[in-house]
Amino acid sequence: MKVGCVKEIKSHEYRVGLTPSCAEAYIRHGHNVFIENSAGINAGYTDEEYKAAGALLIDDKRKIFNECEMIVKVKEPLRQECELFHSGQILFTFLHLASNEVLTQELLRAGIKGVAYETIETENGQLPLLKPMSEISGRLSIQEGAKFLEKPFGGRGVLLGGVPGVEKGKVAVLGAGVVGTNAVKMAYGLGAKVTVLDININRLEYLDDIFDGRIETLYSSRANIEKILAESDLLIGAVLIHGAKAPHLIKRDDLKNMKNGAVVVDVAVDQGGCVETSKPTAHDNPVFVIDDVVHYCVANMPGAVARTATQALTGVTLKYGLEIADKGLEKAARENNEIAAGINLYESKLTYRAVADDLGLEY
Ligand code: NAD
Repeated sequence: MKVGCVKEIKSHEYRVGLTPSCAEAYIRHGHNVFIENSAGINAGYTDEEYKAAGALLIDDKRKIFNECEMIVKVKEPLRQECELFHSGQILFTFLHLASNEVLTQELLRAGIKGVAYETIETENGQLPLLKPMSEISGRLSIQEGAKFLEKPFGGRGVLLGGVPGVEKGKVAVLGAGVVGTNAVKMAYGLGAKVTVLDININRLEYLDDIFDGRIETLYSSRANIEKILAESDLLIGAVLIHGAKAPHLIKRDDLKNMKNGAVVVDVAVDQGGCVETSKPTAHDNPVFVIDDVVHYCVANMPGAVARTATQALTGVTLKYGLEIADKGLEKAARENNEIAAGINLYESKLTYRAVADDLGLEY
C-alpha cells in the first residue's frame, strides 16, 4: 500500500503522524511511504532522517493525497485538506466528529474511509490511542500549573514543594482517572500536599494504595469540593463522564472562595470543562483571570510537548496502521474488533452510532 503523511496545518499543532522509525516499519512490511517535506520538523524529525528510513520526500502535498491509499495524520483535516481526498481513501487520525458537523459532512462528501484514533476501543472498554494523550496532559497540568503560580505569570507566588520550614503548596485533583493519576504523580513528585477527589471509590482505593497513604483521597461530594477549594493553590480539573459533557463541579460563585492568585488547570475543557468559567484557550494565550483565579484551559495540551507526544502517539498507532496497510481496512476490521470500532466513516456512510446520534445524522 502507498501510505502518506502530511504536515499538520492546524494552528499550534506540532506533532506528526509518522516518525522516521514508523516509516521504516511500514517499508519493512513492503509498503511505500510518502512524507511531505518538513512534516516532522516541529517534532524534531528532519527530512534526512525520513530519507534514511527509506521514505519518499514530497514537496507538494497534493501528490501525497492523489497517490496514497492511506493518509496518516494527527489532527482532524481542515477544509483545505478535505478537498484533496479521493473516494475510498483511508484516513487514520484523530477525527472528533461528534463536535464537528461541517467536517463530518465534508468527509462524507469526499467518500473516504475514516478511522478515528479516539474510538479505537479494546474489549475492556479502554481507548488505547487516547490514553497517552491523557497521560501527557495530566503530567503537563502540574508543570503548567506550577509555572502560572509564579508571581510574574499572574499566580500567588507559591512554590509547590515549599522549602524546609515553609508550608508546601496545596494541589487538589478533581477526577482520579488517567489525567488525574498522572497529575497526582507529578504533584507528589514535586513535593506538594496533594488531595484527589473522585466519585469512584475504586480509583481512590487504588491511589491510596500506590501512594501508601501519602496523599489524601476524598469522595467528590459538594462539601469536600468546597473544603478543598478554599485550601488549594492549584486545582486540576480531570473529570470525565464517557460520552457526555463534563459536569460543572465548580460554579462561578465558588471562585470567590478560592485564594487570590490560585490557579485552575481545567484539562477537561475539551469536554466543556468542570469549572463553569472555563472556556478553551490556545498555547499562544493559554490563561485568563476571573475573580483573581488564573484559568489555564488549553484544549490540546499535548501539542506543547510535540516530540514526547509524537513518540507516545505513534508508539500506539503504529500497530493498528500496519495491520490496516497489511490487510486492507475491510479484512483488518473483520479480524480485529478494535479497528472495527475505529471506523467512523465508510464511503459516504456514517458508521459510528454515537457520532450519528450526537449530530442527528443517519447511521
Ligand atoms: P478517565 O475516564 O480516565 O477519568 C475520569 C475520572 O473522572 C473517572 O475516574 C471518573 O470516575 C471521574 N469522575 C466522574 N465524575 C466525577 C465527579 N463528579 N467528581 C469527581 N470525579 C468524577 O478520563 P481521562 O482520560 O482522565 O480524561 C479526563 C478529561 O481530560 C477528559 O475530559 C479528557 O477529554 C480530557 N483531556 C484533555 C486534554 C487536553 O489537551 N485538554 C488531553 C487529554 C484528555
